Amino acid sequence: MNDTILVINCGSSSLKIAVFDASFQRLGSALAERLGQSDAFARSDDNQHFHLKPGSAHREALGVLVSHFQSTGLLRGQPLAIGHRVVHGGEAFREAVVINPQVLDTIAACASLAPLHNPVNLLGIEATAELFPDVAQVAVFDTAFHQTLPEKAFLYALPTRFYRDWGIRRYGFHGTSHRYMLSETARLLDKPESEVSLVSAHLGNGCSITAIRDGASVDTSMGLTPLEGLVMGTRSGDVDPGLFDFLAGKGLDPAEAHRILNNESGLLGLSGQTNDMRTLSEMADHGHAPSALAIDVFCFRLARYIGAMMASLKTLDALVFTGGIGENSARVRATTLAQLELFGFRLDEELNRHHGAYTAGRIDASTSRHRIMVIPTNEELMIAREAVATTSG
Ligand code: AMP
Repeated sequence: MNDTILVINCGSSSLKIAVFDASFQRLGSALAERLGQSDAFARSDDNQHFHLKPGSAHREALGVLVSHFQSTGLLRGQPLAIGHRVVHGGEAFREAVVINPQVLDTIAACASLAPLHNPVNLLGIEATAELFPDVAQVAVFDTAFHQTLPEKAFLYALPTRFYRDWGIRRYGFHGTSHRYMLSETARLLDKPESEVSLVSAHLGNGCSITAIRDGASVDTSMGLTPLEGLVMGTRSGDVDPGLFDFLAGKGLDPAEAHRILNNESGLLGLSGQTNDMRTLSEMADHGHAPSALAIDVFCFRLARYIGAMMASLKTLDALVFTGGIGENSARVRATTLAQLELFGFRLDEELNRHHGAYTAGRIDASTSRHRIMVIPTNEELMIAREAVATTSG
């Protein structure tokens, strides 16, 4: 037994591993991509590349990367705990749990709600159990943090049998990141988490926003699936539900419409160029009108949602930006908040340009009614903490 913690995040064709020590310092991480394809590859954060046989899947990649950490001495003997990111826990899991056969069955039962993710999360758990049969494994769910949503926020205005018989409701995602925003804001404000209220905007390739009241998620923009809500890299976010019928009339079957809304929409669809915000910003600066328009649509939707999240709060300790865009795009933050002056949000331009780097994340002007912050997310650290807390609890 040693004192490392392993965090494993299996995506549909990728696998990320991070190793932490017992004081939650990250010792190393590695990534395998294009799994199942002829050009599968893996590399570590110190830029070492590993040979993967063409078509290698998650199990092979896991073996290669764990051997790498063992050979470099970062991973000695058995880890203290292993945490897995699991996308969908349905209504069964309000918090992280130690994995047992019943938990595995429940994760499998939630697969219809996350068909691209839960089956591959299960694969990762199985493969890890084979490597470390005596170590407790913990499932940390993207949905768990949002299980505190009140009915008025999680119910769609549909016949209630849809919820009762099929579990159709809003679940919310990115829970681990929003949960980490809560923990970081509480630390920075030196307040107990249970007294902190914030609006947390996770803006990466996937985007979601959450209202957290007195330490609990009370509203969030993603719903039954991670397609609802904000404009994202390739996902449309909210559209009129009548669109599907309209598209069917144009000859598009539901699977094709689903693919387009998930993979060809959002910033990519609007700009016709890329889903990458940094590139879009550069193109907009060079006069590319569709890129500028894509950013405008993105920021307007975000501004609307920040306003919507305020409906669930009585007080606001901070509006927090995170994720690749939230942490790095001064332009997105400025364009968005310029539309929210009615709420009293005012940025300090200089602090915003530096992403709050010299002010413990703060980017609000002295005239702002609310604190505005940039906080780098760290989902892996959150999973490592939950893995230890759950196994030692
Ligand atoms: P994530 O999914 O959290 O890795 O975020 C990816 C998104 O963050 C992409 O749209 C990137 O273009 C965007 N991003 C990363 N760095 C910057 C930057 N310096 N300026 C604007 N967008 C950025």
